[in-house]
This record gives sequence, structure tokens and C-alpha cells, in this order.
Amino acid sequence: MHLPYIKSVRDVDLKNKRVLIRADLNVPVSDGLVTSDARIQASLATIKAVMDEGASVVVMSHLGRPSEGEYAQEFSLLPVARRLSQLLELSVPLLAQPEDCSSIGFGELGLLENVRFLAGEKSNSTELSKRLADQCDVFVMDAFGTAHRAHASTHGVAELAPVACSGLLLDAELNAFQSTLSAPAKPMVAIIGGAKVSTKLEVLGSLANIAGRIIVGGGIANTFIAAAGYDIGKSLYEEDLLGVAKDIASRVEIPIPVDVTVGKAFDVATPAIVKAIDNVAADEMIMDIGPVTARSWAETLMDAQTIMWNGPLGVFEFDQFGEGTRVLAQAIADSAAFSIAGGGDTLAAVEKYAVAEGISYISTGGGAFLELVEGKVLPAVEVLGRRSA
Ligand code: AMP
Repeated sequence: MHLPYIKSVRDVDLKNKRVLIRADLNVPVSDGLVTSDARIQASLATIKAVMDEGASVVVMSHLGRPSEGEYAQEFSLLPVARRLSQLLELSVPLLAQPEDCSSIGFGELGLLENVRFLAGEKSNSTELSKRLADQCDVFVMDAFGTAHRAHASTHGVAELAPVACSGLLLDAELNAFQSTLSAPAKPMVAIIGGAKVSTKLEVLGSLANIAGRIIVGGGIANTFIAAAGYDIGKSLYEEDLLGVAKDIASRVEIPIPVDVTVGKAFDVATPAIVKAIDNVAADEMIMDIGPVTARSWAETLMDAQTIMWNGPLGVFEFDQFGEGTRVLAQAIADSAAFSIAGGGDTLAAVEKYAVAEGISYISTGGGAFLELVEGKVLPAVEVLGRRSA
């Protein structure tokens, strides 16, 4: 994978400059409180670095999916402004409109209200992009989680701002990918779980070219198990992708589990039953890999030099179907390989099984993570590359 040269915020003179940072502060909020501030924490390095230069700093982000162009209190960034203010121990006013950025003095920080309240954000309108670009001398793109979207606050503004560069989080994310995936230390094992093959088809195809083996889990595994000729009962799978699954399995080693954990209903209280792979009944659903398979796959991970992980191996939200994900997560953390994990459900699993410390790099991106693995150029990265040339 080859990424363009991108000017980093480290290389830009920020003294007495008005700086606009696009961060990914799309955090869960409940009853007006931020319930997980991981993304805010991940954005602090760049905010602090820019503040240390004495710049006038405004951060912008989206939150949730409001109808564009309309204010809605439940999607307000006010709880984020409060959390930022606590973490940085300074006042962080919430700015309703881009033009309010002018009220932020040098050495001060403001937070622009949810960019999706502004008409033209998702359509990347030139008008909104210009309004944003007019507020700054330097635009810093640090929202890796939204770098795969060409929106006004991630793409259009980078096109029009006097100077556009990357922030420290975006740098770190891109460097981690560059070093893992451009020339991964071999053997490389990819672990791809989750609900559907269709959402990860392209990534499976790309990984078939670079990984020596792909471990599939979840609903994705069910499609491969069915393609290998086994009865999978009522399991979630994609019938129309059986041919595609066969084709991918012919290009790279994709192990089929010897045992699976099944349930009779998709329900938190459904008892888990371990079955041999050739013994799944017509009224059963495969919800996880079985314990023999989990142990054996975990052992094979010990030989890997590079491990890339995206997606749970089973319905890990229900504890009785989380063992496969737990055992492999622990094995990834215990292995000496360079390991990289990303995606929303994957991060939830990393948290649930407390394995973050053993993983070499944890990406904050879901869609952006997968698009990079697929070898796509992220729109926000492409424009930064062009502006840096
Ligand atoms: P994704 O968003 O594609 O990464 O899928 C994650 C979701 O897949 C999680 O919510 C899991 O509960 C679900 N999942 C994992 N394994 C299975 C399975 N065997 N059957 C149905 N859903 C599954």
C-alpha cells in the first residue's frame, strides 16, 4: 500500500495562527453525559500540541446522524464541550456558527457545534467548505474515523483552507497501516468476523492477496461453512455469496471450525450448545466457534508475525457466545506478532475482554480502517496529499 506524502501539523508554524481542527468526537452520549470518552482522549494530543503553540484553536466534529441543516438537542456537542473542558482544565465555549470562530482569542479553545447541523456538510458543498475555510489560517485534519467520507468538514475545507495538514492521530493511524500492510512481516494472519460477508467482501478479497491465512468468524464464517458443504441449520448466512466464498477460499487458506457453539434462538437467554461441525440440527443457529476450534486457532496464532483483526468471532454481546472472541482476543494480545485491531465491534470486544494492552495498534476507525485495508485511497487523505505536493 502506498500513501501520498502529507504535511503534518508538526511541520507547520502555528504561532499567531487561527487553527481549525477536524476531530472525530462522535462519542456515545446518554442523558447529556459522555459515556465513553475514548475518541475525545484520542484527539487530545493534537489539540494540546496546537494550543502549546499559542494558536487560536477551534475543534469541529459531527455527532450521530441528525437530519442535516437542523439543530437537534440530542445531537448537540455540548456534553463533549463540557468533557473537553474538564480534561483540559480550561473553558471551552460551544460555537453555534462557523463565523463565531472569530470570538476565540490566541491561546484559547472553542468547539464548533455539530457540523451536521450545517446544510451542505454531507454533500461537500463549496459554500459551506468556504465558510469553514474562511475561519482559519491552518486546517488540521485529525478525524481518521471519518477520513473515508468526502464531506465539507473533512474534504471541502481541506481543499480551500490557506494551509491544510494532518493531525497527530491521523499521522499515527496512517503510519500504523503503512508499516503493517505495505510490507507485513510474514506469516500474516487476518481475522475477519462480523455479521455479513457482503460488507467485508472487498476486504476479504484484498487480504487474500497479502495474508497467508484468513480466520473468519461470525455470520461471515457461516457462509464459508455452508460453501464447504456443511448443514448450518438456521444460521445467519448469505446464500447469494456462496460462490464468492468458494472463490476466496480457493485463493487463501480459510480454516473451517471443527466444532461450533449453537443456540435455538437469537436471544440473550438462549442456552449455548457445543456441536461438531457436521452435527448442526435444522433448528439451530451457529453463534460462535466451539472451544476445540478456539484453542487450536489460538495456538496457530503464536507463529504469526503480523495479525490484523476486525470483527467478532461470534455473538459476543451474549456472554455464552463470546468465548471464541475472548479466546482469540487473548491469543492476539499474548502473541509476539505486530497486531492491529480496528472497527466498532472489535473495539467493544477489546474493551470487554480487557486485552488492549497486548495489541500493538488499536485503530479508532471502522469504515476508514477497512477501506485502507482494501487499498482504497481515503478522500480526506487524497486531498491532503494534493495540498502537500
Ligand atoms: P459487523 O458489524 O459486521 O462487524 O458485525 C458485528 C455483529 O455481528 C455483532 O453484533 C455480532 O453479534 C454479530 N454476529 C457475530 N457472529 C454472529 C453469528 N454467528 N450470527 C449472527 N450474528 C453474528
